[in-house]
Order: sequence, then C-alpha cells, then structure tokens
Amino acid sequence: MRITQAEVLVSSPGRNFVTLRITTDDGLTGLGDATLNGRELAVAAYLSEHVVPLLIGRDAHQIEDTWQYLYRGAYWRRGPVTMASIAAVDTALWDIKAKAAGMPLYQLLGGRSREGLLCYGHASGVDLPELFDSINEHLEEGYRAIRVQTGIPGLPSVYGVASSKNASAGSDSGTDSRYDYEPARRNAVPVEETWDTRAYLRHAPTVFEAVRNEFGPELPLLHDAHHRLTPIQAAKLGKSLEPYDLFWLEDVTPAENQAVLRRVREHTTTPLAIGEVFNSIWDYKQLFEEQLIDYVRSPVTHAGGITALRRIFDYAAVYQIKSGVHGPTDVSPVGLAAAVHLGIAIPNFGIQEYMQHSPATLEVFRTAHTFEDGLLKPGEAPGLGVEYDDEVAGSFPYEAAYLPVNRLLDGSMHDW
Ligand SMILES: [Mg+2]
Repeated sequence: MRITQAEVLVSSPGRNFVTLRITTDDGLTGLGDATLNGRELAVAAYLSEHVVPLLIGRDAHQIEDTWQYLYRGAYWRRGPVTMASIAAVDTALWDIKAKAAGMPLYQLLGGRSREGLLCYGHASGVDLPELFDSINEHLEEGYRAIRVQTGIPGLPSVYGVASSKNASAGSDSGTDSRYDYEPARRNAVPVEETWDTRAYLRHAPTVFEAVRNEFGPELPLLHDAHHRLTPIQAAKLGKSLEPYDLFWLEDVTPAENQAVLRRVREHTTTPLAIGEVFNSIWDYKQLFEEQLIDYVRSPVTHAGGITALRRIFDYAAVYQIKSGVHGPTDVSPVGLAAAVHLGIAIPNFGIQEYMQHSPATLEVFRTAHTFEDGLLKPGEAPGLGVEYDDEVAGSFPYEAAYLPVNRLLDGSMHDW
C-alpha cells in the first residue's frame, strides 16, 4: 500500500490547526495533528517543504521505518517543529493501518485496558465565588477531576483564569469563553501579562483550603504552576499544598534543567507532572530514572507520534510513572483522538486533560470519540475515528496568533 498524496491542511475554526492528510493507492486516508500553538506555520513549512516529498511512494504500512527515516534522516534531531512533523506522519499512518484492518486504532495497540479515560476539566475564577461556580458547572457536566486556577489579588490577569465575568459555555464566535485564557491570541504581537511569585505562593494554599472545605476530601484536584518557580519556590508550594491532597502539581519549574527537580522532591510528597513542552524520550531519562516525577504530560502531537509516546509510556511504567496527557484545545481533535486510543490501551494510564473543543472546531473535525460521565471513550469507527471537512475548513482561514508573554512587576521578562 503506497502513499500517493500528503496534504498539509491549515485552518482556524476558533483557533489555528495544522493537519496532515495522507492518501494511499488503496484510497485510504489518514490524519495527523501537527499543531504547534503560536508557531503553526513553521511546522506546516517543515512538512510541505521537507517531509511530504519523501513520503510519496513509501509503503504506508512501514510505520516504524518511516519514523526512523524521518528522525535519523534529518540529522538534526528533536525540537518541537521536527517532532510535531514526525508525529503528524506517524499518527496518519496508524490511522491508515487501523482503517486497513477495519478496526478502531486501540485494537492495534493491544486492545482495551479500561472502560474509558478519566478526564480532568479546567475550572477557574478571578475569586472564590466564581471559582466555585466553575467547579460546580464542570461537575454537572460529568467531570470527576478538576484543575483549579484562580486570580491573584493585585494581578490583572493570570494564566489559566477566564477573564470574562460570568464566563459561560458557548458564544456567538463558536468559542467557549470559560477557556478564553487558553487559545493563542489573534494579535500582531503577544499580549503582555504581569507576574508576582510571592503573591502567588501566599495565595494558592488559601484557595485549595477553601475548595477542600467547600467540596470535601474526595474530589481529585490538580493545579498548574506553568513553569514559573525556582526549585526552592516549587518545593515550598508543594509542601504548602500537601494538606489539600492534590492529584498533581504541574510544571513547577522550567524543566530544561532536570536535576533541579531533586530539590523539589526532597521537600514534598505532592505528586508532580511535567512534560507538555518536551518532545523526546530523552527529555524524560533523568526524571524517570531518578523517579523525580509521577506523571508524563507529553501529547502525541509534540512527542513524535503514537510510536514515540507509547515508547515513553513503556519506559515510564518501569518506574511506576503514569500518563497524564496534555489536552488543551490546541491539541486538535486528531491529536486528542490519538491520545484516547493510546490511553485506553496502555497499562499505566493516569488521567487525561480534556478542555472540550469549540463547536466551530468540531464542525471541521468530526469525531467518533465521546465524553460520558467524566470518561473519554474512543468509539468503534475504524482508525482514529476523525473526519476532516475541507469545505467547512475553507471558511476558517489561518490568522496569526501568539501565546502571551509574562513580565515581573519591575518589567523583567519571566516564564509564561
Ligand atoms: Mg500545563
């Protein structure tokens, strides 16, 4: 079964997506997600200029060989642009192989290990009443685990907190205003936010104390520090949150320097999740072998595809480390479907982030996976179970967008 065509599809239904569609001489098509939030066209160019010409005529069944050919063959290894491109090819080929077999993809990955994927939703509020409303809204939708992010007194806007008062699901633009902090903003330059770590470290434990008092001890709670802390600040936060029994604390430090996680681990038993900006198994080597983290955050889209992420999960399982796949809306429905099929099959599944794509996004990407009673389920359609509607996509052209940047109160650049 030879590859006859590979198309790079760029569309913007509520936000930008880059999708690779591979077609074979049997007439089968497969989809892969190549979306790199805020740097989308770099991946589109890498694919169309350097990868697509190499795919034509290749055997679509040779997934591992194609992965190695693109990874080793580039000479320049790793990096988010390269690995998102390889991920898109890999995912599309798995989609094709499963369609050729007439099976949903998870059957080729070993079959079902569980009924569905436990998901966590994003609750937020500028203050406690808004936060409690948001948590209740998510619980009513069926979520069984909740990420908690709140405003910080004195700061005008904070990562992970919806800015609109009375933010609610659905709007005229087809986006979900509960999550208006998340898409890259469609501005000519990045929005600038302000950050104060000391204020954050004082405020965060008071929020979790209030949430536990209101919602009780059972509800799994998660929190994202978004790479903003030094090792000793991260250790302090982990320790101060211990009484509130978090499911995990995410991205406490910028993890390029992995050894700093030793300092955090020395001081706290709060479970740690890291890896949404990683793109290779090598980024995890020290973190796994020294057991410095508890959950792997890489998505299929940025870690080199299903082939590569399954390898990372198998490596993690040796150290009793579980999956916690990144699932914001910039991971397209194709990338999410890949995570759902992989997550239903692996033995060391932990939890899946699930923000829910906007109605506009779901008009372009028609999905077979479902969200019921807090669980994501892959559906039984052959392959990934996602169809791409070219006609609808044509009405959502690409618009330049950037993630925000972050400055300290004195104007210094900080990590966003
Ligand atoms: Mg995160």
